[in-house]
Amino acid sequence: MALANRDLGAVVAELAAVIVAHKAWLSELDGRIGDGDHGANMAKGFARAADRVAGQDLTLGAALAILSDVLMGEIGGSMGPLYGVMFDDMAQALEGRDVIDIAAVDAMLKAALAGVQAMGNARVGDKTMIDTLAPAVAAFATHRDKGAEEALARMVAAAETGRDSTIGLVARLGRASRLGERSRGMLDAGAVSCCLILTALAGSLTKRLD
Ligand code: ADP
Ligand code: MG
Repeated sequence: MALANRDLGAVVAELAAVIVAHKAWLSELDGRIGDGDHGANMAKGFARAADRVAGQDLTLGAALAILSDVLMGEIGGSMGPLYGVMFDDMAQALEGRDVIDIAAVDAMLKAALAGVQAMGNARVGDKTMIDTLAPAVAAFATHRDKGAEEALARMVAAAETGRDSTIGLVARLGRASRLGERSRGMLDAGAVSCCLILTALAGSLTKRLD
């Protein structure tokens, strides 16, 4: 895998399209055990970022940095700052890279996980986006020797399994934790949005490899 790191602003537009398409579902999920704003906040932020990257020749890092700025500065809820940090750390991991290769994606994913955990202190099992992100990042690293397409597919599969694991979990962090045992039995909205983002990212990268 070696993708020229230019003209990749459309990747952010592709992530945004997926988040916007799932806006109602994300808010519905958040409404069951939270306050119901997750889809609206995410869709607003991602759509604004898509507008800002449109028509520019950007590196992937530059486009992710724009997404981060919007989420950090203009979006409320827990996820504005958490995804803001995640995309900023991903952007930093890509700094100075002329090509997006497997090592770059691996570094970007590891930076995403480290950034979210440094800010939110969530661990696997707390019923958050980390239940999606941590196993996905680990799966990519484990399978990177098999090539980009395979490693990205394994990442997506691990993200889906992690997302679904949140159904059986009791929330230990964030708003849903106030429900205690009653938070069990439902998907976590952040785990779902994180899976959508990773799946879209994998699709965007994979299709550009062809
Ligand atoms: P709010 O809870 O402020 O309304 P959102 O609805 O945007 O924020 O996001 C809720 C999501 O935030 C949850 O579904 C969960 O995945 C995620 N979350 C909450 N706290 C943390 C944390 N400390 N670390 C990582 N993710 C978290
Ligand atoms: Mg919410």
